[in-house]
Amino acid sequence: MAVPKRKTSPSKRGMRRGHDTLTIDSFQECPNCGELKRPHNLCQSCGHYNGRAVLSVEG
Ligand SMILES: [Zn+2]
Repeated sequence: MAVPKRKTSPSKRGMRRGHDTLTIDSFQECPNCGELKRPHNLCQSCGHYNGRAVLSVEG
């Protein structure tokens, strides 16, 4: 079985994991309630999308 010759250094491991991030850095303000929401997704706080209520939110 093929086995790595050297232990991966903390530096090399960090370089590899530098691309592992899953953050979403694109947000828009909801036109209905002003909360930040993801583009092309319904607002999680008021349930509106494209000017109408898609999902009823309690409270
Ligand atoms: Zn909203």
